[in-house]
Order: sequence, then structure tokens, then C-alpha cells
Amino acid sequence: MSACTPQALMGANFTTYRIGGPLEEAYQPAGEAEMIAVLQETRRSGKKLTVLGWGGNSIIASRGISGVTVITRKLDWVEPKFLTRIAFGAGVHLAKSASAALKQSLTGGEYMIGIPGTIGGAIRMNAGALGQETAEVVRSVNLFNLQTGEVETWLPEQLGFSYRKSSIDPQRHIILSAELEFQPGDAAKISEMMEQSVAFRKTHHPKEPNGGSVFKNPSKEMPAGRLMEELGAKGVWREGGVMVSPLHGNFIVNVDNGTSTDVLKLMLRMKRAIHEHYGLDAHPENLFLGDATEEEIALWRELTGSQ
Ligand SMILES: Cc1cc2nc3c(=O)[nH]c(=O)nc-3n(C[C@H](O)[C@H](O)[C@H](O)COP(=O)(O)OP(=O)(O)OC[C@H]3O[C@@H](n4cnc5c(N)ncnc54)[C@H](O)[C@@H]3O)c2cc1C
Repeated sequence: MSACTPQALMGANFTTYRIGGPLEEAYQPAGEAEMIAVLQETRRSGKKLTVLGWGGNSIIASRGISGVTVITRKLDWVEPKFLTRIAFGAGVHLAKSASAALKQSLTGGEYMIGIPGTIGGAIRMNAGALGQETAEVVRSVNLFNLQTGEVETWLPEQLGFSYRKSSIDPQRHIILSAELEFQPGDAAKISEMMEQSVAFRKTHHPKEPNGGSVFKNPSKEMPAGRLMEELGAKGVWREGGVMVSPLHGNFIVNVDNGTSTDVLKLMLRMKRAIHEHYGLDAHPENLFLGDATEEEIALWRELTGSQ
């Protein structure tokens, strides 16, 4: 038995889209021992497991998530190691990790400042901005392997990082903590870079609930946001309660009680238009989690090109 008791929570309260139905059996472990106990119990029961960090890249199904959902936000400890190394719990918010690096005058973590996410989510997604990405700073990751029931330490070469991708399969590899390594820097310059990033996001990112970039950029020269702007989608294309943000063509905003189906439908319209007008394949950056309807399964299949 785990010391952590299950809660009935709404997914919408744990995603930046503010979309998502009931989480059948949700846990918010307060420390690593509790987290491992929940994961061991889930492994024994054979129930389906879903891991959620900040929900900054996740579309949770409006029908919700059955089985066990583990929310990592309370695993938010920070421990400076050597001069340039810092260890983080998987649930540390990226603004907090950026500040921890700044506090030690370390550069390389400035990109984290404006990204709504956790260390675990950033590793899984290889999150990045400002020409920096998570792959460059990760030195080791401690994870629970649901297949073996063991805690393992993975080194960067096992993490298979590429653009917004890693080899972490969240249904099997649950990140508990990670050690990141930064470079000695100048606190004033680090701080200035962070302030500029925050100021840029304030004016260029929407205030309404959203999940960040819905598509990976088809190419560096052809960012998805610009393509959508050229197609006249910004602030115009709409599906149910969601629309393409008037501020950023690759962001979908939830303006009127949008559902997961609304988001997927609008994404598909965007993907088809990019293909039709530019001959490019847009691949989703957002992930879809939970109990999909038949319609959503078909939409997601077309969006991801999976069978
Ligand atoms: C306004 C806005 C701006 C954004 N800007 C950027 C940006 O500049 N750059 C960028 O890269 N992204 C950006 N994002 C997207 C998002 O914030 C990042 O992808 C972030 O890393 C997601 O982290 P999370 O904890 O929210 O992940 P979640 O959405 O909670 O989860 C994402 C995936 O990671 C898995 N996961 C989460 N925690 C763990 C864990 N401990 N172990 C194993 N798997 C785990 C989940 O199961 C899921 O598959 C932005 C989002 C928003 C809303």
C-alpha cells in the first residue's frame, strides 16, 4: 500500500489548455519515496499509467483519463551539486530551475525561464528556446522503469534526444530526478537574457489558456506560425470553443470552454492547409493523453500519420 491516497481530480485543472475530463485515480506524491510506492503499486495492479508534469504540452481528453495518473508537481526539490551541476526533482517548474542556475551565475538554462513545464516534461520533450535545449544540459536522469520495477540512472547517450523528442516513453520510464550541468557565466548577462525572454513572451504569446506550439516547425525557414499567418488563420480559424490565436499562428487558444475534440479538429484543419499550400508535413508537438472517443482516435491518427 502506498502512503499517498488517490484523489478524484479534473484534468482541466492540470493542463495549460484548461481542457481535460476526470482523472479516475490521481496521485500527487510529495516525495520520491511516495512516488516510487505509487509506481510499484500501479505496476503490481497492471493498471494503465499516465504521468503529468505541468500539462504545458498536453491535450487531455475531455472524457478524462482512466487508470492511474501521477502528477509530479510536488517533486520540486533543488539541490546544488558541484560548481556547475544542480540536481532537480522531476516536478520542479522550469522557472524555478532557471532561477536556481541564475543564483549560481550559471548560463545554459536561460531558455527555461518562460516555459510552463517541469524538468521531467522538459526532458521527455527536449524543450528548448533561445537557441538552447534541454539535451545540452542533461547529465543524468533517474527514472523508474515500469517494466522492471527498478530505479535506473540513464546517461545522455541513452536518452535519444532530437528536436522536441527523446527516447523516454512515459508509459514505461517515469523520470524521478535529473542532474543538469550549466556553464559559469555572468549573472547580469544571464539575468538580462531572461528578462528579454519574459518580455518577448508577454507580447508574443497569448494570455488565453493554450498548450504552446501545436506543431513542430516543418523547417527552420518555414515556422508553422508564419505559415498559418500567411494562410490568414490567426484570430480567424475556429472550431467549437477554440481558435488559432490572433497573436501566434502556431498556438491554439481555448476561448470558450473548448474540448479536446475541438483542438484536434482545428489542428487537422491546420495540418491539411499546410500540406495543401506548401507541400509540407506538419507533425504535432502537442501530445494527446487519455480516453479518446472514436472520432478523436481517427483525428489523432490522421494528425500523427499513425495506423
Ligand atoms: C505558453 C507556452 C509556451 C511554451 N513555450 C515553449 C518553448 O518555448 N519551448 C518548448 O520546448 N516548449 C514550450 N512549451 C511547451 C511545454 O511547456 C514544454 O513541452 C514543457 O517541457 C512541457 O513540460 P510539462 O511538465 O508541462 O509536460 P506535460 O505536458 O505534463 O507532459 C508532456 C509529456 O511528458 C511526459 N512527462 C511529464 N513528466 C514526466 C516524467 N516525470 N517522466 C516521464 N514523462 C513525463 C508526459 O507523460 C507527456 O507525455 C510552451 C507551452 C506553453 C503553454
